[in-house]
Amino acid sequence: MSVLNGQPASESLASELKVVRDHLKKTKTPKVLASEERVSVVSKLTKLLDDKRAKLIAHYYTDSLIQDLAEETNGFVGDSLEMARFGRDSDAEILIVAGVKFMGETAKILSPLKTVLMPTLDATCSLDIACPIDRFSRFCDEHKDRTVVVYANTSAAVKARADWVVTSSIALEVVEHLSDRGEKIIWAPDKHLGSYVQKNTNADILLWDAACIVHEEFKAQGIRDMKKMYPAAAVLAHPEAPGAVLEISDVVGSTTQIIQAAKNLPHNDIIVATDQGIFHKLRKIVPHKNFMIAPTAGHDATCRSCANCPWMSMNSLQATYESLMNSNNEIRVEKELAVKAMVPLQRMLDFAANQQLEVKGRA
Ligand code: SF4
Repeated sequence: MSVLNGQPASESLASELKVVRDHLKKTKTPKVLASEERVSVVSKLTKLLDDKRAKLIAHYYTDSLIQDLAEETNGFVGDSLEMARFGRDSDAEILIVAGVKFMGETAKILSPLKTVLMPTLDATCSLDIACPIDRFSRFCDEHKDRTVVVYANTSAAVKARADWVVTSSIALEVVEHLSDRGEKIIWAPDKHLGSYVQKNTNADILLWDAACIVHEEFKAQGIRDMKKMYPAAAVLAHPEAPGAVLEISDVVGSTTQIIQAAKNLPHNDIIVATDQGIFHKLRKIVPHKNFMIAPTAGHDATCRSCANCPWMSMNSLQATYESLMNSNNEIRVEKELAVKAMVPLQRMLDFAANQQLEVKGRA
């Protein structure tokens, strides 16, 4: 497998990159509301969503209170692409997207005539940060013979530079299809997902060197130790986790695929290697099962994220209310850029429709 600039992909953690550290410094943990305050904000937000013909669209990794409010007000909880597609198909005038910035941008690209707001514009993603358009574009220019495939966790500008946008649930099929046509590929930004795709398709892939600070922390040895305590447990992992974790997992898939597997597998004990926010949905759907977070501790542990995305955590009820009340934090994508970014997105949607695959997003 080829890797970035012909060099082996970096062994250091994504959270150690200066640009990622700088963004992490800006994260703020929202204040925990007392129960009366919480009831009051939920009630005001419910009314405001109705008055403004707005829909709340939340990711599985956001706070459980936000997920509940989205569902109770006929909004939506899901993965990134499902969120964008719900927004596109909704008749709401305003979409308020609780997630990270690239999700707001994707929603805006698919719904250019709607107003898209976010509780905070500081909620970003280490994959997006580590793939800046100028550097990425130069890299693509240096390898013009390669088809550019990017993951959904990228800026609108990076999507606009790509030939294909993919989510984790359709990445294998798209790359296999391209490889069968004899195409060589640039994959960005997640190196772990890219390695997983390369291993399972044997495609000729040049990898960008970036990672998710949350999934990169899961430890294979920690999971092996946990399996000694729970020998009958199934391990479900997101493909952004390191290869050693994926090798010992029973199911590797997107957030939606993890939820499906948790429901369908006969196992009662389930070890999950993705953001802890997903546990809210898992426990709602299969309340009788025992879900455990995969260890992020153990040898070489740094536990900078502890299976909890600091950017997803910035989405609070109060910030959601203030954003919708004051029409703050609007997502704007320049029209020409949105049109360009729509091309590889639409290519993925068409491919999925032709293959009769259901496209599910990821983090
Ligand atoms: S969990 Fe990882 S991939 Fe998802 S938004 Fe956070 S940093 Fe990005």
